[in-house]
Amino acid sequence: MKKIIVLGCGISGLSSALLLIREGHQVKIVSKELPPNTTSNKAAAFWSPYYAEGERVTQWAKESYEEYETLCMIEESGVSMAKLHRFRKKGSVESEDWEAAVPEGDYRAIPKEKLPAGYDEGFELDVPLIETQIFLPWLMDEFKDDGGKIETREIKSLDELQNECDLIIHCSGMNARTLVNDQAMIPMKGQIVVMDLHLDIPIILVESDPTYIVQRKDGCIVGGTREENVFTETTDEETLNAIVDRASKFFPEIKTASRITQWAGLRPYRNEVRVEREENIIHNYGHGGSGFTLAWGCAKEVLGLASW
Ligand SMILES: Cc1cc2nc3c(=O)[nH]c(=O)nc-3n(C[C@H](O)[C@H](O)[C@H](O)COP(=O)(O)OP(=O)(O)OC[C@H]3O[C@@H](n4cnc5c(N)ncnc54)[C@H](O)[C@@H]3O)c2cc1C
Repeated sequence: MKKIIVLGCGISGLSSALLLIREGHQVKIVSKELPPNTTSNKAAAFWSPYYAEGERVTQWAKESYEEYETLCMIEESGVSMAKLHRFRKKGSVESEDWEAAVPEGDYRAIPKEKLPAGYDEGFELDVPLIETQIFLPWLMDEFKDDGGKIETREIKSLDELQNECDLIIHCSGMNARTLVNDQAMIPMKGQIVVMDLHLDIPIILVESDPTYIVQRKDGCIVGGTREENVFTETTDEETLNAIVDRASKFFPEIKTASRITQWAGLRPYRNEVRVEREENIIHNYGHGGSGFTLAWGCAKEVLGLASW
């Protein structure tokens, strides 16, 4: 049994903390912000290996998919399976790893005659849909029920935690850029509008735009943007209107529906997702647009790295 501090209470910190405490370690989360005030709360959030790099991404996505399939059976978790339609235009380059990460036969081509105008290819698959507003507090409760402690505290350096534990799990998301001076961390800003709609529709995804439409319990999430190296977390009206216009081509109701809210968040992008041990620090950050998609695979790897 080790005394472990997990730095960060987003999806990366929470998934790592939960697996570690269930393995019998003594675990405390230390975090400046807790849900609902983390980047993880700004995710759409559906399973999609998107804007995350590294050889292990497909394996982590696969392991996470499997874990969410189990979580789906617990109603209070806020996780369910949803149909997703992924459309592409000729010449657009996107991750091809999806098929390898989902159950065999689950990645099905949509016949050409059923494609929306302007698209050359489409695929249908079932993916985990995560209601962040339910799932993140539920994970915190699970962790606390298992004896975990959560402390709200900002730290300026990982050294501050060294005397308090045997092992530090570093899950500070975008803040790793300053906390461990990792200049490979680049914000990939995304803007979202939440419409007051409750439609019976599949998730729509066009990565090249990017456009995504996700019907959740708290509204219809419509995105998005991919603004590289932009550090501000503000939305702008012109961009939001363009997002709504693009999405309305799929479902005209979106154009006239009223807005519940909008937000912008910074995807913590890195040229390679960092899950790595350095002496008594295990880093788990840089998941880009795939924090939820990779969480459980990465947390399992953290568990392995913590065992020696
Ligand atoms: C618009 C948008 C849509 C997205 N959609 C999806 C999606 O559909 N599917 C998907 O898989 N992913 C999606 N993502 C990506 C996903 O949100 C991120 O990859 C994920 O949230 C990263 O989680 P994290 O736990 O690593 O970081 P965070 O959620 O940012 O958590 C970091 C934690 O560290 C704490 N912390 C940081 N610095 C300090 C410090 N100095 N002291 C103490 N605590 C500190 C913070 O307070 C916070 O609790 C989306 C992101 C955006 C912005």
